[in-house]
Amino acid sequence: MFSEFDLDKRLLKAVDKLGFEKPTPVQTAAIPPALAHKDLLVSSETGSGKTAAFLLPTLHQMLAKAAPETGSRMLILLPTRELARQVMKHFKQLAAFTHLKFALICGGETFKFQRAMFRKNPEVIIATPGRLLEHIEHGTPDFEALEFLILDEADRMLDMGLSEDVLKIVSCCNVDRQTLLFSATLNHRGLSKMMAGMLREPEAIRLNSVRDRHQNIRQQIIVADDSLHKGRLTDWLLSNETFDKAMIFTNTRIQADKLGSYLRSRGQRMGVLHGDLEQDERNRIMQLLRQGIINVLVATDVAARGIDVKGVDLVINFDMARSGKEHVHRIGRTGRAGEEGLAICLISPQEWNLMSSVGRYLRIDFEQRTVESQLGKYKGPHKVKASGKAAGTKKTKEKKKEKVVKAKQRHRDKKNIGKRRKPTVQIEDKPTPSGFKPLMKKK
Ligand code: AMP
Repeated sequence: MFSEFDLDKRLLKAVDKLGFEKPTPVQTAAIPPALAHKDLLVSSETGSGKTAAFLLPTLHQMLAKAAPETGSRMLILLPTRELARQVMKHFKQLAAFTHLKFALICGGETFKFQRAMFRKNPEVIIATPGRLLEHIEHGTPDFEALEFLILDEADRMLDMGLSEDVLKIVSCCNVDRQTLLFSATLNHRGLSKMMAGMLREPEAIRLNSVRDRHQNIRQQIIVADDSLHKGRLTDWLLSNETFDKAMIFTNTRIQADKLGSYLRSRGQRMGVLHGDLEQDERNRIMQLLRQGIINVLVATDVAARGIDVKGVDLVINFDMARSGKEHVHRIGRTGRAGEEGLAICLISPQEWNLMSSVGRYLRIDFEQRTVESQLGKYKGPHKVKASGKAAGTKKTKEKKKEKVVKAKQRHRDKKNIGKRRKPTVQIEDKPTPSGFKPLMKKK
């Protein structure tokens, strides 16, 4: 129960309005130490409820203490615009019954307008590093009285080469702040370097690792000959699966556009999201998806990072993700906050090995599925190397035994070349010298 956290009534009212019945594991683990003003280092996936895990305790502390006259009180840094917009949306919901104001500072929107927003002294700044740094270089924001610094999806900021920008921004922030860092993994190579001097005796909360299974997501593979065949399979799945919203991942922008045109021609209600699109267009597509005007989104990984759309219950990996980590990010779009989800990977001959290694790394038992009306030539690799359990099956053991017996027989035959064979036993009906008849009967 959220009431056990002893949060400000206005926040509890908002939580109630959102219909959150009980805290998620990351909220249970992070809210109490964050309320105790500790620095935190939290490993937690997108979709785990981590936004509320950092917003609730920090907003509570802001409400408990009188606000300074000027300057921002909280800075939330995120790797992408979509993620920033999502956090903004969650902030609006959770702070709905408070006076707290915010400013969203990310690329793709007017610089002048953003500068004007800073003049209104919003308590909370939600920003992506690049654009915020531009404002800092123009001397606009004032983080000298900053009380809370949140770094969300820190591992992705590193992967996207944003660590320098982050470090520059952090160096402008009040040193007596509380810092909360969230990352899908705490084992990221660059993380400790980025963190050095940023957090004070942080408490590490490890909720899950990238290898943890998403128990509520069924994971299937369907083999395909090539991208044309994959296109037909995708269209079939969208037309035959029952789903609320679907996300389809491609590895390249060109493929996203190609697939988008094909699916549109097949009458699917869909949109394409990739990095080449203008911000306005990206916002428009996300809006259409949220409103349910379209129910399918074809996206590349970068464009889809962190976006949280309610009701995504089908993920199709048109191209197999290039790494286990990326696969987890993709399937994390579905099965959010405990809901059921289905993730299907379309696997071409070139992708079989990649799929196997991702499966081994994440310990996923992909369920192989076939679509009878859309069968292709490719059925999977000819010889699947026996490993683990498969190596010890009854059939393989029997075959091995048979081989050994045959080899021994060949060896004996070689040794006996030229030797006289023993006469074969004659079975007669005559009594033996001992007076007994042999037990075997003549054929
Ligand atoms: P996040 O990991 O912050 O992106 O959250 C993922 C989704 O879970 C968001 O749509 C939240 O609104 C939702 N959520 C967060 N906390 C809870 C909760 N305690 N109960 C149910 N849903 C939640």
